[in-house]
Amino acid sequence: MTERILADVPAASSRAVHERMSRQPKRDTSCELRLRSALFARGQRYRVHYRVPEVARRTIDIAFVGSRVAVFLDGCFWHGCPVHGAKMTTNGAWWARKIARNRERDAETDDILRASGWCVTRIWEHVECEDAVRTVEALLARTVDA
Ligand SMILES: [Zn+2]
Repeated sequence: MTERILADVPAASSRAVHERMSRQPKRDTSCELRLRSALFARGQRYRVHYRVPEVARRTIDIAFVGSRVAVFLDGCFWHGCPVHGAKMTTNGAWWARKIARNRERDAETDDILRASGWCVTRIWEHVECEDAVRTVEALLARTVDA
């Protein structure tokens, strides 16, 4: 699988991009850390990178297990943000396919979680931390009322 994908990569420019992107941390990005500490400071308690039994090999970035609220922080590049996701123009087709697969996987994860009674929200990494906190707390308030 990996070999096929790598063999698919056309040339040096895209390989350089691939190496640069591969070095980017996928966990504990600054956006996620800021949101987590803001929520914690406001008294919210959650699990990080929570493994869901229903979804093999996938984790929820920030999980409020009791109220079954799942928060994902999606990187603009990897998850194809409509504002910043399309910057990659060199070898665009290869990246487009890769990002399309990520998005399919995201949608599938959301469907499985929702079917298991989770309330799912995805927040782009470009969203201001305060706005992200408001989104999450609004969701938590709704599930408490329900
Ligand atoms: Zn973005």
